Amino acid sequence: MSELIRDTAVFVNLNALKYNLSQIKNMYSNKVHVMAVIKANAYGHGDIEVSKAFMDAGAEYLAVATLSEALALRQIYSNYPLFILGHTPDRLLGMVAENNITQTIFSFSQAKILDDICFGKNIKAKVHLKVDTGFHRLGCVDKEELLSICRLRNLEVEGIFSHLALVNEEENLKQYNLFLKVTEFLENKGIRFRYKHISDSISAVDYPEYSLNMIRPGAILYGLKGFHKGELDVIPALEFVSHVSQIRNISKGEGVGYDFLWRAPTDTLIGTLPFGYADGYPRNLMNKGYVTIFGKKCPIIGVICMDQCMVDLSSVPEAQEGSRAIIYGDGKNNTMSIDEAAKLAGTNKNEIVSRISARPPRIYI
Ligand SMILES: *Cc1c(COP(=O)(O)O)cnc(C)c1O
Repeated sequence: MSELIRDTAVFVNLNALKYNLSQIKNMYSNKVHVMAVIKANAYGHGDIEVSKAFMDAGAEYLAVATLSEALALRQIYSNYPLFILGHTPDRLLGMVAENNITQTIFSFSQAKILDDICFGKNIKAKVHLKVDTGFHRLGCVDKEELLSICRLRNLEVEGIFSHLALVNEEENLKQYNLFLKVTEFLENKGIRFRYKHISDSISAVDYPEYSLNMIRPGAILYGLKGFHKGELDVIPALEFVSHVSQIRNISKGEGVGYDFLWRAPTDTLIGTLPFGYADGYPRNLMNKGYVTIFGKKCPIIGVICMDQCMVDLSSVPEAQEGSRAIIYGDGKNNTMSIDEAAKLAGTNKNEIVSRISARPPRIYI
């Protein structure tokens, strides 16, 4: 860590990311297009570097949630196909067009605004139509409205998509069939879509029959397994690491941290670590979280502070100031996996990784 500006950092294994992408491509014998989802700073892994890894591994498209995310990537990757999965406010649609970013469109009024902008600039904007098949987040249900969007002359309606709520097989099938119905209606009117997509990570693995000709995996590319039915070997790409700042002995009965919410039951060796909830570590892991030092679990004691926390070093008397502590690992050698952190914090794996804040530097290996 000598070259690092900080003792808490996120290590990202780019080969693992490439492996995971090739795994899903191979599962489909390279027969579907892959739109790699890199929103939320590539699920906390760092979007600029991660994009490069996914492009190298054959992702045809990169997807983000917001215009701000797309613009930051566009500065680095001037030509790569970039898709905004979410809503871009009308007042900002001009930036989408100017920067050759593909936009989700779900209403004629949005489409018309973008079309007018493009007419004025003599350019065409690429869009994918979003159909609401039941999730009721974003999307259009009106076939005629979608058709009128397709007839605008300054838009290139490159794709059409929807999103599954993944309630159960029956609901999935209902959503999928509705999507096909809408798509066929438009195709019967002579509209052609280069890309059709409805599958995220879970559906890409569990329901390959819904893959159409494009999938939008996020979680699995980072080695996070949420699927149930299918199988795909993917490997976690992230290790969250810190180093002990200070070590000392405290006496039986002494308190640690705010409100002394932990008191030493016996004379105890404790260590302080330079990470806290402002780094994205869940504060509600008090009394549950641990770090791994020399392969041993060291429970976090007391309240987790904004920038620091304290651990019980009883299991590793050989620990020293500067010793390496694994916050999140791959689950082997007594490390806390992302899955375990999610369960303990009462959330899902995507939240655990995407909430890791910008403060810890990302190191790519
Ligand atoms: C985030 C997102 C995805 C990727 O989801 P994962 O579960 O991480 O694979 C796919 N599609 C849309 C519309 C999304 O917002």
